[in-house]
Amino acid sequence: MRLLIASRNRGKVLEIRALLGLALQKVVEVITLTELPNVEQPREDGKTFAENARLKALHYAKAHRILCIADDSGLAVEPLGGLPGVRSARYAGAGATDVSNNAHLLHELAPFARPWKAAFVCVAAAALPNRVVAEATGKVEGEILSEGRGRDGFGYDPLFFVPSLGKTMAELSTAEKNLISHRGHALRALIAEMKTAGLLLS
Ligand code: IMP
Repeated sequence: MRLLIASRNRGKVLEIRALLGLALQKVVEVITLTELPNVEQPREDGKTFAENARLKALHYAKAHRILCIADDSGLAVEPLGGLPGVRSARYAGAGATDVSNNAHLLHELAPFARPWKAAFVCVAAAALPNRVVAEATGKVEGEILSEGRGRDGFGYDPLFFVPSLGKTMAELSTAEKNLISHRGHALRALIAEMKTAGLLLS
């Protein structure tokens, strides 16, 4: 069996490979979207992280007749009613960058009293060409700070403070972040489900 990790993000792929570990003995080859440069991307027009994760996993599983793992994630901010949510990557509009997204988030939060409670949420899905075979959600709760701290990570990490660690996500090493992150939780649960379903070695 071949397995496709539906991502071009090197950090994400390394994280998923590390989590898969020995379970990969049943898998002949692992590929990522980097090895499929001309593949058509699906429109991520789902209203929820789960819809987007499922549609991505199924799209690539069908197109390549392969077992596929995909994920969708973002930031849900309590005073903003769950925004930016599935719009996290483009919150500041077309051509948004991490810097403009963070600035837009602070602008939108300015009228609200603190603490600005928030969560990172990730849904991971696995699909075969004809159906979604596993799905899991992961979440990490925290607060948005009014100024960024730290240099690691990406996206909203500098503004996302984790009270139990006394640090922002951007102040954590990759290994520390993977242990507590929404993506780490979702992928560990997904892999456990895939093992139960006999798709990966236990
Ligand atoms: P995607 O699921 O990788 O497409 O992520 C969507 C967007 O959510 C990213 O572009 C980031 O803005 C935000 N995001 C998702 N996960 C994280 C994270 O771990 N740290 C910071 N931002 C994140």
